[in-house]
Amino acid sequence: MRVAIGGIAHESSTFATVPTKLSDFEEQGIPEGQQLIEVYGGTKSAMGGFIDAARDFSFDIVPTIYAHATPAGPVTAEATQTLTDWLCDGLRSALETGPLDGVLLALHGAMVSELDDDGERYILRAVREVVGPEMPVIVELDLHGNISENMVGLATVCVAYDEYPHTDTYERAYEMGLILAQIVRGGVKPTAAVVKIPLLAGGQRQYTHAEPMLSVKHLAHDIEGEPGIVNVSYLPGFFFADIEPTNFTIIVTADNNPEQAQEAAARIANYIWNRREDFKLNPTPVDQAVQKAMAAPDGPVVMADIGDNPGGGTPADGTVMLEALLRLGADNAVVVPIVDPESVQQAIAVGEGNSVQLKLGAKVDKFHGEPLDVAAKVARITNGTFVHKGPMGTGTTHKLGPTVVLEIESAGGGKVQVVTTTYRYQPTDLEVLRSQGIEPTDKQIIVVKSWVHYRAAFTPVAKQIIEVDTPGLTSPHLDRYDYKKLVRPIYPLDLEMTWKAL
Ligand SMILES: [Zn+2]
Repeated sequence: MRVAIGGIAHESSTFATVPTKLSDFEEQGIPEGQQLIEVYGGTKSAMGGFIDAARDFSFDIVPTIYAHATPAGPVTAEATQTLTDWLCDGLRSALETGPLDGVLLALHGAMVSELDDDGERYILRAVREVVGPEMPVIVELDLHGNISENMVGLATVCVAYDEYPHTDTYERAYEMGLILAQIVRGGVKPTAAVVKIPLLAGGQRQYTHAEPMLSVKHLAHDIEGEPGIVNVSYLPGFFFADIEPTNFTIIVTADNNPEQAQEAAARIANYIWNRREDFKLNPTPVDQAVQKAMAAPDGPVVMADIGDNPGGGTPADGTVMLEALLRLGADNAVVVPIVDPESVQQAIAVGEGNSVQLKLGAKVDKFHGEPLDVAAKVARITNGTFVHKGPMGTGTTHKLGPTVVLEIESAGGGKVQVVTTTYRYQPTDLEVLRSQGIEPTDKQIIVVKSWVHYRAAFTPVAKQIIEVDTPGLTSPHLDRYDYKKLVRPIYPLDLEMTWKAL
């Protein structure tokens, strides 16, 4: 058995003002061929899962490319075309050197391209042109995928992450290797059913370790254990994409039994619809959150700046939380990150230990506060490269680009640190602080620009977690977004509606 592996992953916000270019993918490296094995072998990533599955289920792999970029605006036509060409070139040369039995791909599901609102459909159409309609092509999806039936139809099986934070990227990729072996050697004939639930699920309620998603996950696992079911995927989606497929999708794959797949998908969809009110959010106002964190007897109190989550395509340069910390006199606090390459260069120019006057943050757009006039001490300068040691992407390297730790005095004379970076990053690992000489467990307050992913690493050290109602392009106030392509009616934008699967 000989299997090609690769992937292109992006989550695109159609409300973000900055498009995603080829250079944004190149920022984190685009390993190809043998290099892909060298970069990802032994890591808890999608590619790491494919590589280990090949070893354990005895098949040979032919690596193509793997490209990913931090979420932002839609992917440019040039980037989409170039990356898809590179992936397809890899598949073509794999076919030239011998027969292929299948393809394992790590995509995302919420990529919007200038060439197609459904970026994964674009990629899979190109892949099908190379490998033909019969080749098993198994696709890994992020559970934030906005899924079209077209896209599912182009794949043989779709397998979405079960967890948010995405701690099971590796496990699902490994599972895909097993499913492929069952198709090629065991005669499994996948038949998929898709049910689209007209629901925009609040981002923080998509957390799979608390209700309502915990029960959704358990129900899906129970159904996956039923005889004849190959996979159950639930994708609450990413509602910052104003495109037709955006809503909550269920994909069930059965072995040669479309009716069974359809019935199971409808069962789980109706369960979710009946709990739709549980997916609403109630974040804490900014000043109230800061005062609560300052008054807490023990730290760290982790505050999630949910309006400026770079994982949802924001600039991650928002200053609203920092401004409140400084004004209200917080002490022993750290904000991670504020992306501001210009301030980083100014800080590097004065050097470690010196003071610098900055206009910090909020430079990309007008949605994430105002630039702050601050006098800061440059506490540390690094190249911003660190390895994930926590439960997400364990072993993979991330590059923040040139990075400085700034220390700013608050109104009460307290100290607020800011991890100021060149590239965007959603803090999913304690190493983002430790690599900068900051011990998270010593802090009273940690502000992270994230919705949910921080929880995997930060929950074990947090004495308290507060979701803060900050403004920004990932604010959960849906009425602030001007949706045009979204299929209506949809809950909770349209409250007076009924719906039922089957
Ligand atoms: Zn995701």
